[in-house]
Amino acid sequence: MNSERIRIVIVGAGIAGLATALALARHGLRCHVFEQARLLSEVGAGVQLSPNSTRLLHQLGLENRLRRVAVQPQAIEMRRWDDNSVLRRTPLGAACEQHFGAPYYTVHRADLYQGLLERLAAGTLHLGLRCTELRESRRGVQVQFADGSLTTADLVVGADGIHSRVRDVLVRDQPRYSGHSIYRALIPAERVPFLREEPKVVLWLGPGRHCVSYPVSGGNQINLAATVPDPCWRAESWSAQGKTEDLARAYADWTPEVRALTSAPDVVSRWALHDRDCLHRWSTNRITVIGDAAHPMLPFFAQGANQAVEDAIVLAECLRNVGPEGITAGLVRYENVRRPRTCEVHRRSRANTTALHLRDGAAQRDRDTALATHAALGDQEWLYGYDAEAAVTAATAGR
Ligand SMILES: Cc1cc2nc3c(=O)[nH]c(=O)nc-3n(C[C@H](O)[C@H](O)[C@H](O)COP(=O)(O)OP(=O)(O)OC[C@H]3O[C@@H](n4cnc5c(N)ncnc54)[C@H](O)[C@@H]3O)c2cc1C
Repeated sequence: MNSERIRIVIVGAGIAGLATALALARHGLRCHVFEQARLLSEVGAGVQLSPNSTRLLHQLGLENRLRRVAVQPQAIEMRRWDDNSVLRRTPLGAACEQHFGAPYYTVHRADLYQGLLERLAAGTLHLGLRCTELRESRRGVQVQFADGSLTTADLVVGADGIHSRVRDVLVRDQPRYSGHSIYRALIPAERVPFLREEPKVVLWLGPGRHCVSYPVSGGNQINLAATVPDPCWRAESWSAQGKTEDLARAYADWTPEVRALTSAPDVVSRWALHDRDCLHRWSTNRITVIGDAAHPMLPFFAQGANQAVEDAIVLAECLRNVGPEGITAGLVRYENVRRPRTCEVHRRSRANTTALHLRDGAAQRDRDTALATHAALGDQEWLYGYDAEAAVTAATAGR
């Protein structure tokens, strides 16, 4: 039996689930994606996509759409909170595309999501089905849904996010609160004209908090994300309403640019930031996890979605040309390729909880010196230069 006959079920139709379905289809592997939501929608916010994943998204057929709707920022700048001085400027734009063979994009999530959805084969996606239970045997996995219906599969991929039900099969852990919540907003670009001079990602770093802005929607909107330290806030939902006046107050003594930015939105959402520890094992014989279900990480390195796309390509490569008997070996290979890399990205994301929020003083000055000395694109080789398919080839050769 060849791999085309493997019955694959994906639980969750977020970026990870949809990218996996597309990556499998590239190798002639059909799957069914089960999503709990009755209606599909992505949150009203932006996402940064770096070359390690845009290269793959282009391969999955999204190049035309992304080039049309996304913005290619010219640089990532890190600036000081009180005087707006530049701590580090990493060039992006054409230099990035030339160096890494793929662009850096900032994009509205709905645009990315729509691009993934429209590439999906008809009949793949099933809405309004929440997975509640998985029963694995030597012959397959039975997947139970909240409405009482069942399906069976040779392989189940849990792409069901930070609250993953599928992950429960592997470990009993809980989301870990970071002590920070984040305000998010989309602002009409004309309200912050100083950000229209050059499309770029800007991070302002200050004591206890940081603030990020970048253009999306062809430059018509500015995505704002601004953290606040918060020992109490726990509502983990994109839709939690924040108060615009609380956001403005949290940045009231920052540089005028940040004050202008944080007082510009009409509405803000507020979300408590969680992650979970790295998993020691990602798979059973027939069940695995991907994206936030595998490695929910803090957004302080802007890599959660990028890593999910890498996961998708690697998993599909590992399942290429294997029959049902080869699934377990394929999952071992997938885990061996992905676990070390995602653990490292996860570690750096968590470390940024401290590094991005230092009080002015010796540690902050050391950080700023280090930032300035690692501004070149080449310093991002390990991250942006990662070739997901080559990683599988290397792992296979070393078997
Ligand atoms: C503030 C913020 C900023 C970020 N910025 C960036 C960035 O710039 N770049 C970047 O790469 N990443 C970023 N990230 C991270 C990124 O958003 C996530 O890593 C990514 O969206 C995870 O996608 P996913 O598909 O794994 O999970 P999710 O998006 O959570 O999707 C999971 C899906 O599974 C469904 N589901 C859940 N349970 C079940 C069930 N039992 N049965 C059926 N369906 C189910 C859900 O409804 C959902 O549709 C950011 C995150 C935050 C919070």
